Amino acid sequence: MDDPPARPPARPPSTGAPGVGAPATGAPEVAVVGAGLVGCLLACFLARRGHAVTLYERRPDPREAGAGRSRSINLAISERGIDALRRVGLDETVLKAALPMPGRMMHAPDGTLSFQPYSADGRRAINSISRSALNRTLLDAVDAFPGVRLRFRHRLTTLDPETGRMEFDTPGGPAAAVAPVIIGADGAGSAVRARLQTRPGFNLHQEYLDYGYKELTIPARAGDFALDPGALHIWPRGRSMMIALPNPDRSFTCTLFWPERELAELDTPAKVERAFAENYPDAHALIPDLAADYALNPIGHLVTVRCEPWTVLGRAAVVGLIGDAAHAIVPFYGQGANCGFEDCVELDRCLAETGDDYAAALLLYENRRKGNTDTIARLALDNFVEMRDKVASRAFLARKRAEHLLERALPGRYASRYELISFSTVPYAEVERRVTRQRRWAAVAALAAAGMSAWAGATLRNRLRPEEPGPPGRGRSRTGRRPRAERR
Ligand SMILES: Cc1cc2nc3c(=O)[nH]c(=O)nc-3n(C[C@H](O)[C@H](O)[C@H](O)COP(=O)(O)OP(=O)(O)OC[C@H]3O[C@@H](n4cnc5c(N)ncnc54)[C@H](O)[C@@H]3O)c2cc1C
Repeated sequence: MDDPPARPPARPPSTGAPGVGAPATGAPEVAVVGAGLVGCLLACFLARRGHAVTLYERRPDPREAGAGRSRSINLAISERGIDALRRVGLDETVLKAALPMPGRMMHAPDGTLSFQPYSADGRRAINSISRSALNRTLLDAVDAFPGVRLRFRHRLTTLDPETGRMEFDTPGGPAAAVAPVIIGADGAGSAVRARLQTRPGFNLHQEYLDYGYKELTIPARAGDFALDPGALHIWPRGRSMMIALPNPDRSFTCTLFWPERELAELDTPAKVERAFAENYPDAHALIPDLAADYALNPIGHLVTVRCEPWTVLGRAAVVGLIGDAAHAIVPFYGQGANCGFEDCVELDRCLAETGDDYAAALLLYENRRKGNTDTIARLALDNFVEMRDKVASRAFLARKRAEHLLERALPGRYASRYELISFSTVPYAEVERRVTRQRRWAAVAALAAAGMSAWAGATLRNRLRPEEPGPPGRGRSRTGRRPRAERR
């Protein structure tokens, strides 16, 4: 079964990749593989440009009755994601269903709580959003564009980057389609990337963390939130941790991050109950169906994917990668989806700059984004150590307080890394350059301050030192000043 192309084939190229350039009349035809968060948002951006888009998704339409609304699983959306949504007019709709979290709430082993605001003024918040609700909102937005076609239950099995021919598994049997532009938005285990990987010159680096994760639910208690909904809750325990984000239905989704081997050892209800009672006693009391919930939910794995190139120019097609397919990262900076949404903004910008020449635009987009996504991949890994271990330490709290103090004292001139990553759209790599400059500057200022105070201390000590008798015949003390009696 062959799916008919969405539009007549695009006209010859403007960038040397046959059949890929923007047509003089009519829009380019684009196949986006994966209707997850990034694929849907990308389809909105492309459709807004008037391009014909076909979205292929292996799953059934999640909006259909019976597609299963299962558990609440959420993620945190911050400024980069909101900025991208704003550009397609979806920010308000999405934020209406979100719960702002202006800080993190630390849960000590003895149940003591301490709140750390994310920003100096305590007002800026990251937003807890239901992943499936966000996907449905994006699908509705995609559906509203006449130039977009959705093909659910189409699992890409193979693709030829030279010709743009794709093959799918569908409930009705194998299907095929051809497109001059194919963009893989099919997540960390991307089938599109797997096809590019077989070509010489394609580099792939995958790094699995030796930690797994489990999602659990703290249900609403007497119709209300069991914990403060205005915070991202963290149970830092050194080698492991648990976090919880609030849901609009007043439940919390907890994610437990434990070393894989230790997770595997929790293989009986009694062991699970004991591990929770020991490590998270306050949360343990709030999860009545803990053992059943634990047994039901699978262990997830955490991977960082770095690959290049993201763009392959074939004889009659161009293939690109976006979102997790290009750069899956671990979730500890809450940036995976935010970063993928930012990809869409950059690709849209590159299309505008190249006159909708996909080959040129995808190369430009890759060139601009790769360094940034490598940076956030590294920061996300570093932040795991911070979240599970350092957030509870006195040194960390003192550093946060000092950062907020500087942010208040030097507004617009000093901003912490967290602030720049979560509450700005400054490119990730530029954030790192800026943080390095600020640290250097702060170190110089601290040295200068230390020098000043040493000098002031020495001066003061000298002044307060009891007068010594001067050498015979000379009426001056060691300070070079005449003895007090002489001065009078
Ligand atoms: C535990 C956890 C917590 C996270 N928390 C956050 C957070 O707080 N904030 C944040 O910004 N990010 C977070 N992330 C990261 C975020 O989930 C991802 O970065 C984001 O979902 C990537 O979107 P995507 O569309 O690129 O990929 P995906 O969401 O994986 O979507 C890919 C889509 O492609 C489809 N697909 C796959 N293969 C095929 C195929 N062969 N044919 C057709 N379709 C296919 C899939 O069904 C899916 O719909 C978290 C991730 C994890 C694991």
